[in-house]
Amino acid sequence: MPEHTDAASPAKKNHPRHLLVTLAVLAVFAGVGVAAYNALRPRGATAGFGQTNITDPAAAKALGDSLLTAHDTTVLVVVAHPDDLEFYAGGTAISLAKRNRVILLMGTSGEKGAGGWPGVATVRERLMLETARIAGYADVVFLRHPDQGLGQAAAYPGEVKAAYLKYKPTIVLSFDASDEAQGYRHVDHEAAGRTAAAVARQIGGVTLYLFSSSAPDVLVDYAPVAETKAKAFATVGNYRIVNPFYAYLVQPVLRLRNPPIGPSYGMRASFPSVGVSYGEVFRRVVEPPDPSTAPPAEQLPPTLENP
Ligand SMILES: [Zn+2]
Repeated sequence: MPEHTDAASPAKKNHPRHLLVTLAVLAVFAGVGVAAYNALRPRGATAGFGQTNITDPAAAKALGDSLLTAHDTTVLVVVAHPDDLEFYAGGTAISLAKRNRVILLMGTSGEKGAGGWPGVATVRERLMLETARIAGYADVVFLRHPDQGLGQAAAYPGEVKAAYLKYKPTIVLSFDASDEAQGYRHVDHEAAGRTAAAVARQIGGVTLYLFSSSAPDVLVDYAPVAETKAKAFATVGNYRIVNPFYAYLVQPVLRLRNPPIGPSYGMRASFPSVGVSYGEVFRRVVEPPDPSTAPPAEQLPPTLENP
């Protein structure tokens, strides 16, 4: 027995190393397998980026239905990148664009996209304008601040305020900067949402509908325009083809998915209890008209109090 133990000891010393190598190889295979599955798996009806944290879906849907009755007004969309609106609130914007003027104020042209490939900002602007035609937006204003630098752009708050004063929106769509949803966060999204909310508070007379919120209280049913939302997102999101590695290597693989981008893509909150399977959610903030922006008393028409 002692001889047997001595003879076996070198092999026993190698044993843990073999085990570690085997585990490492298995981990690599598992990682590659998971990545391949995620890239290739079919995107089914449950692929939407949904939120379910609405405490009273019936009340939220009533607010959403009320929003969709808006007509002959201006809706200003304060976003950071081409594709922000289409992902989070494209269904709502497309629905509103049927009877209102929807204007996008685009903080950056997203030149960090597609790995920062040269010329990507120009491509994104072109695709954004193409998307605007599909979606029915009235206009897109490009401010062209640095991607990932919107919060540091000194001119940005003044430009947002100028847009409020010029277009006189009664409805503003933007990111929820004060209570952003868990998951994807971006400094430019925060800057856009924070600025949109600050200017709305300053000017008044505006109702904010804030998306990417962790405390939504509005549910918009966009089922009638779900196909258009998918088409809009597929168009605005197609900028990666500017990078040849993506165009010739990645995209052909992604095309194996069925469908690549369908009506379930992007924000899709489902609330079966109120009959909504294609919903977008918002936190509503009503900014009442600010008395300080009303005309001074001497310019008011005569009244009993002001003869
Ligand atoms: Zn973005």
